[in-house]
Amino acid sequence: MAPPASSVQEATIHSNYGEKYADVNWDELGFSLTPTDFMFEMKCFQGEDFSQGNLIPYGKIELSPAAAILNYGQGLFEGLKAYRREDGHIVLFRPEQNAMRMKMGAERMCMPSPSVEQFIDAVKQTVLANKRWVPPPGKGSLYIRPLLMGSGSILGVAPAPEYTFLVYTSPVGNYYKGTGTPINLIVEDKLHRAIPRGAGGVKTIANYSPVLQALTQAKSKGFSDVLFLDAKTGQNIEEVSACNIFIVKDKIISTPATLGTILPGVTRKSIIDIALDFGFQVITLLL
Ligand SMILES: *Cc1c(COP(=O)(O)O)cnc(C)c1O
Repeated sequence: MAPPASSVQEATIHSNYGEKYADVNWDELGFSLTPTDFMFEMKCFQGEDFSQGNLIPYGKIELSPAAAILNYGQGLFEGLKAYRREDGHIVLFRPEQNAMRMKMGAERMCMPSPSVEQFIDAVKQTVLANKRWVPPPGKGSLYIRPLLMGSGSILGVAPAPEYTFLVYTSPVGNYYKGTGTPINLIVEDKLHRAIPRGAGGVKTIANYSPVLQALTQAKSKGFSDVLFLDAKTGQNIEEVSACNIFIVKDKIISTPATLGTILPGVTRKSIIDIALDFGFQVITLLL
């Protein structure tokens, strides 16, 4: 593959980190953090648009104790993957979908958002800078974690005065242990993940800590994850703590509609598209 030539920074990076693969046991990858070489950072003030970001060495970031993200959870995250193909190319899976989802979420959280082009460019730069951490074909993927946060200080309840967009990466294997083994879910009938007209439909940083209690208990009982029910009636299944759910019966696939309490997954949308192509009927159930 020709060396990337889209920025001066990349050229420097490639001269420093010339070897094809980082020193990782690719057969032992799970879903834990392996720090990589670089991350991307871009900042802007409230009321302005993001303009220019940079690759910087991966490492700790400095935040005021009064940062909005720390005090009030004004933040969003994304998750997508880069794969190394047999032909040597490194490919991303539908990154524009993640970019658009971040834009929607930013509106809900009163934050400026990178444009779709800025998001994709930042993701590409970060992946190329960390190319040696993209696992060999079939051994996993490079997980990409974009973050958008209110990094400015604020004491009263209001949008932060300054925002930071960060992208970092980590090579990963399977999210659930054991390739190909089915997962077992426990139905959670006491705690809810999302409420109607809340923020369950956008990928806010605050969506995950409320599920930890149910998830920890489920894991201690030997379950892989939790299946949440709708908060209004408790009668309908909604989704798992970090993934959407599909019920397959003969040639019919059913999944809850994304009406605000379900996270609109890129995987969900892709499964619906592919299932239709394969002649399945897809029903999106209204709760
Ligand atoms: C991120 C996430 C998903 C999955 O989204 P994908 O785009 O398919 O990765 C599903 N549910 C929740 C709650 C999530 O945060």
